Amino acid sequence: MLNVVLFGAPGSGKGTQSAKLIDEYGLYHISTGEVLRDHIKRGTELGKIADSYISKGNLIPDDLMIQILDDVFDKEANGKPGVVFDGFPRTIPQAEALEKLLAKRGTDLAAVIGLEVPEDELMNRMIQRGKETGRADDTPETIKNRLDVYHKQTHPLRAYYQEKGKYLPINGSGVVDEIFNDIAAGLEEKTGVKCRIH
Ligand code: ATP
Ligand code: MG
Repeated sequence: MLNVVLFGAPGSGKGTQSAKLIDEYGLYHISTGEVLRDHIKRGTELGKIADSYISKGNLIPDDLMIQILDDVFDKEANGKPGVVFDGFPRTIPQAEALEKLLAKRGTDLAAVIGLEVPEDELMNRMIQRGKETGRADDTPETIKNRLDVYHKQTHPLRAYYQEKGKYLPINGSGVVDEIFNDIAAGLEEKTGVKCRIH
């Protein structure tokens, strides 16, 4: 399997670049944010719990999030050529759990693609997305907390994966297709895997 993590602050373009990765590499997309929003929309028990965290811009507790990911992986990802993890891991315990989960299934993580975007641009993108889509956590106050949570809990993963030699830094500002070209070139260099269109 070719398993990659798309890493970056909220609003860094993880969803957009995931869509391109699944098209061009035939990978399976697991977005923890989308999984949770779907539960909220359907009004499940899990959705109610998730909403109480997401609406404030906080993370879902690690134990619960890891359990959810484990379930989704078994239901959807087995037998696929690989997975794009979008929005997971967001903490060191989640990263450790992901490593175990993949090892248990005889596979591993090929690379962590880090979309790097300046803070003011992240803010503007999310405020714009909030206006266009009405996404409930894209409000100025919640955005501010999500960015704080990112710096405290998620950003340390950058150094964690750098030490493991898995981190692939990508400039996430600019034109979507050009950012994707940088990702494809970086992935080829790191893993030897070629994108369908290259
Ligand atoms: P992007 O804008 O790059 O798509 P995002 O950070 O704005 O990313 P999602 O990844 O969709 O948004 O996540 C939305 C919310 O879902 C998070 O703010 C958090 O509350 C919850 N969530 C998603 N993934 C996780 C996770 N791995 N651990 C804990 N909570 C999570
Ligand atoms: Mg997203």
